[in-house]
Amino acid sequence: MLKLTNIHTYYGNIHALKGIDIEVAEGEVISLIGANGAGKSTTLMTTCGIVSPKKGTIELNGEDITYLPPDALVKKGICQVPEGRRIFPYLTVAENLDMGAFLRNDKDKIKQDLDYVYELFPILANRRNQAGGTLSGGEQQMLAISRALMSRPKILLLDEPSLGLAPIVVKQIFSIIEKINQESRTTIFIVEQNANLALKAAHRGYVMETGRITMTDTGKNLLANEDVKKAYLGI
Ligand code: ATP
Repeated sequence: MLKLTNIHTYYGNIHALKGIDIEVAEGEVISLIGANGAGKSTTLMTTCGIVSPKKGTIELNGEDITYLPPDALVKKGICQVPEGRRIFPYLTVAENLDMGAFLRNDKDKIKQDLDYVYELFPILANRRNQAGGTLSGGEQQMLAISRALMSRPKILLLDEPSLGLAPIVVKQIFSIIEKINQESRTTIFIVEQNANLALKAAHRGYVMETGRITMTDTGKNLLANEDVKKAYLGI
């Protein structure tokens, strides 16, 4: 479904991605793990059009989307939940969710999707009239995921969903990510430092070091891999 081939991305003369190849098949959950500064966020930002690669191609179902801007990519079904959530703090939960559906005009289905996200995260239904900025970190992450779902993505890109959250909330978020994948067949691409949870949730994973992919396998095999255990799982 999504194919990155030989992607090179720079920030000025910092060579952040040095020839990345990643493939995501329809219906898969893929996790990209790696240390601080490895290039995980840059991979996501390049995929969703926020940063342009200098070299390489990105294809969505065979179509070249390498240089499309983020809004065009949202219309094509690629939606990102950014690191740090970035919800609209002064808008209510309901208004944040409306913003997620901004590019849609299929009103009946929007209502269906709203019911679905309120069912996934009942706490958001209870707080629908509360300002986004007054929610807890975990609730804001739920809102950010829900807002992305309101655009009906074909592929959901999640940047560090565990960042700054208590372990119990992180577990809850990951179990809902798996549920979204299973129930709505949404393809999911997660970038995450919490390698253990990210690989447990993933069908396949990629390991990244200093701008390069160094390993790829099923989530299960990577969890059992001695190098991964030592470097990323602290075992
Ligand atoms: P983290 O988990 O800490 O977010 P990461 O794996 O997501 O790390 P990136 O944020 O993609 O890594 O950063 C990759 C490299 O690019 C790093 O060396 C980083 O310092 C550099 N970098 C990232 N953003 C910028 C920027 N806006 N300007 C200059 N260099 C940047």
